[in-house]
Amino acid sequence: MLINPIHKASCHCGAVQLELTLPNGLVDPRHCTCSMCRRRGAIVASVSLSGLKIVRGEEHLRLYQFNTRTAKHYFCSICGIYTHHQRRSNPEEFSFNIGCLEGMENPFALEPVRVLDGINHPRDRK
Ligand SMILES: [Zn+2]
Repeated sequence: MLINPIHKASCHCGAVQLELTLPNGLVDPRHCTCSMCRRRGAIVASVSLSGLKIVRGEEHLRLYQFNTRTAKHYFCSICGIYTHHQRRSNPEEFSFNIGCLEGMENPFALEPVRVLDGINHPRDRK
């Protein structure tokens, strides 16, 4: 898995299709404890902004923002699945739901993964 750097990903219903360029494989797979991620529960990994293309279904994506409204969280408006977000801690990157990757049958095989202390976000510390 993850030898070819180009990977397909999709939401559950398939309306939203992504193409991810992952030359370094799954970078920093992690959970996060922020108010959003701890509810969502996905394992995410990082990709550069140019490494994520929405191939199909952009019109089905909904944007959700909260708090400082810096991060941009996207989910499919049909099936509700979170696909990716533009990061607050590094706006030059997206994070994506590794469970959406084609061929990813068991993302939990990656456990234990790092848990980001998102409830004490670095941008919130004084
Ligand atoms: Zn969907």
